Amino acid sequence: MAAETQFKNLYDLRQYFKNETVCREYLERFRWDGNPVCPFCYSDKPYKLGDGKTYKCSNKDCKKKFTATVGTIFENTKIPLSKWFVAMYLITAHKKGISSLQLHRDIGVTQKTAWFINHRIREMLKKNSPNLLSGMVEVDETYIGGKETNKHASKKGQSKGEFGGKTGVIGILERNKELIVEIMYKADAKTLIPTVLRNVEQDATVVTDNWTGYFNLKNFYDHKVVSHSTGVYVVDGIYHTNTLEGFWSLLKRGIIGIYHSVSTKHLGRYLVEFSQRYQTRKINEVDRFNYFLSKCDGRLKYKDLIKD
Ligand SMILES: [Zn+2]
Repeated sequence: MAAETQFKNLYDLRQYFKNETVCREYLERFRWDGNPVCPFCYSDKPYKLGDGKTYKCSNKDCKKKFTATVGTIFENTKIPLSKWFVAMYLITAHKKGISSLQLHRDIGVTQKTAWFINHRIREMLKKNSPNLLSGMVEVDETYIGGKETNKHASKKGQSKGEFGGKTGVIGILERNKELIVEIMYKADAKTLIPTVLRNVEQDATVVTDNWTGYFNLKNFYDHKVVSHSTGVYVVDGIYHTNTLEGFWSLLKRGIIGIYHSVSTKHLGRYLVEFSQRYQTRKINEVDRFNYFLSKCDGRLKYKDLIKD
């Protein structure tokens, strides 16, 4: 990526992306690295038209026109790229995210537009091909929304496939590396074990609490059990699920404090937002911005967002 790009904060970012041309050229360099590719036929021989931003495909069977935003979350948007970039920064740099009400005030768009930007960026953060986790992997579940009751009491509702009005969420974390968070419809072995198998390499060490749903993980992995129900939180000084517990409290504070309440319909996207931000919290502002920008391909349509 462009070596001259160095922004450490929002002020620098605004100085750097000072107009639409700079933003568009950045996106072009980022997506194509000097070799524009037609998004319709993948021909790599387009030529630039007089307006300085539109390309035309030279493949005689295609000949379509496009700009760098085609096929990204920025396609066909009337919102300037400079506002999108500020929004991306705000959403990914703030530890607990930003509400659409705050975003609407901060970047000067309507609240409806801010809401849409928020969700598009969240959709963008979804991983296209998640890696399998390996090494030391923590697995734990939590319950979001509804009335606050203790975790193990709410687990008792699992036979009915519900959790006392809460939504179940499972987290799978490779320490210092990657975090996967998904909605969990049941807390039984039939649900939990395939979820772990789908996301975790065979040679990993998997640490969980002593919930019965995890018992059979020992057939597949080096499985370490931390007996939370008897007050044990760390085994042999290294086996614990405390990293995930820390993430759960951040997630819950975020959802209560910023978003107030989240419908189950949208919870999946918030989980992605929180987990992606969490896993990039230690990298610098520029690298994080570029990491998220690299995910801008594919976009969420407004009608998909509002449908039930
Ligand atoms: Zn083409």
